[in-house]
Amino acid sequence: MFQINENYQKLPGSYLFSTIAKKVAAFTEANPGKDIIRLGIGDVTQPLAPAVIEAMHKAVDEMGKAETFHGYAPDLGYDFLRDAIVENDYKSRGCDISADEIFVSDGAKSDSANIQEIFGPKNRIAVCDPVYPVYVDSNVMSGRTGVYDARSETWSDVIYMPCTMENGFVPEFPKETPDMIYLCLPNNPTGTTITKAQLQEWVDYANKSGAVIIYDGAYEAYISESDVAHSIYECEGAKTCAIELKSFSKNAGFTGVRLGYAVVPKDLKCGDVSLHGMWTRRHGTKFNGAPYIVQRAGEATYSPQGKAQLKEQVAYYMKNASMIKSGLQEAGYTVFGGVNAPYIWLKTPDKMTSWEFFDYLLHNANVVGTPGSGFGPSGEGYFRLTAFGSYENTLGALERIRKL
Ligand SMILES: *Cc1c(COP(=O)(O)O)cnc(C)c1O
Repeated sequence: MFQINENYQKLPGSYLFSTIAKKVAAFTEANPGKDIIRLGIGDVTQPLAPAVIEAMHKAVDEMGKAETFHGYAPDLGYDFLRDAIVENDYKSRGCDISADEIFVSDGAKSDSANIQEIFGPKNRIAVCDPVYPVYVDSNVMSGRTGVYDARSETWSDVIYMPCTMENGFVPEFPKETPDMIYLCLPNNPTGTTITKAQLQEWVDYANKSGAVIIYDGAYEAYISESDVAHSIYECEGAKTCAIELKSFSKNAGFTGVRLGYAVVPKDLKCGDVSLHGMWTRRHGTKFNGAPYIVQRAGEATYSPQGKAQLKEQVAYYMKNASMIKSGLQEAGYTVFGGVNAPYIWLKTPDKMTSWEFFDYLLHNANVVGTPGSGFGPSGEGYFRLTAFGSYENTLGALERIRKL
């Protein structure tokens, strides 16, 4: 008789987005004529940039001819893409990362979930609270998180670093020493970030304590302030303690196209074992490469036209962000984020819980957002709105909220 991986049984249901969907469906059924504006789920809405479309069309045509057909891609990615990544995302920022330290993938969700595989089962992980759920859940699946306590909504073996308005959403060094530290900066869900100097302190802390930092930089393209690092490798010593994960989903609208990459520096070692070698082995065994057409699309994001078009796309979303932020502030809300990330994190008014505010907003403004408590216990009393909607919908939602 086969057995299952019992760790999966420990996972508490992820009710967040299904509960939201159910509540919205119930409301729509009871109020058929009402037009609902959704600023909940973190998915982009703008079409792919023309330079990207052009590159994809060309690659499709190549696939249709024997002379230019491409079969399996190299496991770690085509050189044309890895070279473009190094040039634009690292060399241009003074980071000494080489093309063979780039591992092209199908996105940062899979990378952030898979990376724990190359670490020992007894490693203690540290995460920010609130947090992107993938980091914790992937460690639950591999048995690294201990026992779940439903009352506190925490795992016994996970180290939580609360990020709230009290500490300005800057994670503090935990009392217990972690082995693996997950940092997502700029942050989803809070939309906040930390300065390069503050990130340097984390790099120093990791090097000193022998921890590894898993650095999720999915929102790097949204950084607008000059004292914020675009890569953790801008910090001195990061190559001996950090893995960086990047995605084309949010900067280029690739959520449905699928492309990302991980950086595992050769200097990152445990004793004399190179993590670069381990991730190469893992990739070679379990991944058969991102599609040629998609890698050509990724390359196009770095062309002069691609860059200019994507800058405009990011600016479009960030205009929404600043409109939501200033509009809510004028209406008396306490708001965070929206400067270096396309998320607005607001304090719920009148001591409402996150879910009470969700219902209030849905019923009175017909606007859907995401309850902060869904991202972790320290998210209680907060609420997330995304800037990924259209300008018209964002403006409409804001007008409704301001009339409340
Ligand atoms: C959207 C997002 C990603 C990107 O995931 P993909 O799989 O590349 O689409 C990664 N991390 C965080 C925190 C995100 O919000």
